[in-house]
Amino acid sequence: MSSFRSRIRLSALLVIGALLVAFSVLLYSGLSVILHRYLDARLLAFGVNWAEFIEETNEALPGSAHQPSLSEPRGTDSEENRELREVARSLLILSPDGAVVWKGAAAQTRPSLPGDLWMKALRGEIVYDTIKVANAPPVRRISVPVLRNGTVRYILQAETSMRFVQHTLRQLLALLVVIAVLTLALAWVGSRWLADEALVPVETLSATAEQISGSSLKTRVSLNAPYAEFQRLAHAFNAMLERLQHIFEAQRRFIADAAHELKTPLTVIMGSLEVTLKKARSAEEYREVLIGNLGQVERLIALTRSLLTMARFAGDRPPLQFTPLAIEPLVKDLIGELAVLAESRHIVLEVDARPVPRVLGDEGWIRHLLINLLDNALRYTPRGGTVTVCIETAGEGVGLAVKDTGPGIASEHLPHLFERFYRVESARDRESGGVGLGLAIVKEIAEAHGGMVRVESEVGKGSVFTVTLPAARLDPQPGQSALQ
Ligand code: ADP
Repeated sequence: MSSFRSRIRLSALLVIGALLVAFSVLLYSGLSVILHRYLDARLLAFGVNWAEFIEETNEALPGSAHQPSLSEPRGTDSEENRELREVARSLLILSPDGAVVWKGAAAQTRPSLPGDLWMKALRGEIVYDTIKVANAPPVRRISVPVLRNGTVRYILQAETSMRFVQHTLRQLLALLVVIAVLTLALAWVGSRWLADEALVPVETLSATAEQISGSSLKTRVSLNAPYAEFQRLAHAFNAMLERLQHIFEAQRRFIADAAHELKTPLTVIMGSLEVTLKKARSAEEYREVLIGNLGQVERLIALTRSLLTMARFAGDRPPLQFTPLAIEPLVKDLIGELAVLAESRHIVLEVDARPVPRVLGDEGWIRHLLINLLDNALRYTPRGGTVTVCIETAGEGVGLAVKDTGPGIASEHLPHLFERFYRVESARDRESGGVGLGLAIVKEIAEAHGGMVRVESEVGKGSVFTVTLPAARLDPQPGQSALQ
């Protein structure tokens, strides 16, 4: 697998290399153009000067190749003039048919002007060409037409060596190569630092992630990188660890609590069986033990059922079939089912319903939620008490309140009431058959519906458990199924 570090370094090198090449090409060609223009301008000034001089002298240049009357321009003995004299020595004056009319002292035999350029010169245009010279720098040549009475009488040719241009460009090239090599070497070293800066936090995260197991979820990452992006990454990573730690601890607590809850009835069963088996017993005695154990087995079954329900919510939530539900008939149906139980305990069970919209929910799970709340209310309300289910609108949703005239719950217990296995008085609640999961299941169901549950209670007066469920926005047409 290719390493991201070498990728970063190679990319940095490629980018810098490409920029260097582009910069060098621009600089080299820019300078080349400037130098050529400068050279041409010098030649032009010289050529035009001489052409005007010949025109003005109005001197008929005979066919002589060494006309002496043409003198070099006079002036101060500056560097420029020395160069001009040098050019003047290479001066050549040709007749329109190409014959040499006059020749400077240092004029060399050069290949004649290509046909098209010669024709241009004969038409009165100034033309330039570059001549390659064996074992020497190339030569730049200007051809200036000399006019007499409006017609081209002579073609004046002057040339200068391109040694200076070539030399300057070669030096620039050497300088650019040195700069490029140094820059690339620096970039290679710099890219290592860049790659380290970018990857050290990632490596720290990987190392931490590799060390993390179920037992070391308390580990947190601290990145030294001062950059906001890495701080955010570390933050997100730590927040994820925090969430995982909570989930793991909750699962561990749940398993420990579940095992503890299962152990109690099993210990009771085993103890009673051991004691019973120690000596021979009458049929009546065996019957009593079996009845006692049956109660414990019932408890175990109830506990296992609740544990299974909780486990379904603890992992992926069970698939809920959301449909618009009319709450009042559902509650009345349940009240009808529980009426016999309430009657046997001499408790009044009633409904106080206001008109409310349908709720969006899963009928089976909402039944489960109501049964848990009503079961608690009937279990903890003494004879002669009343349990009322109130249905009313609550904000944008529907509120279902289960009120009882039971013993109430002390305020210190209220914040923990919906926790798993939480019981207000363990001994009394166990005796009443509670497993401490009923309200936790109510909370899970309410939240799975996008709703919530809350409790209000006063010791000696009773308790009110209120579930709020979201209302269904649209009432479907008959025959239309779930909304979402
Ligand atoms: P359990 O199955 O043990 O009843 P729950 O989760 O349903 O467990 O209830 C948790 C605790 O809340 C119970 O142990 C009980 O003490 C208290 N509780 C629940 N409902 C009521 C109520 N209506 N009146 C008084 N106490 C209640």
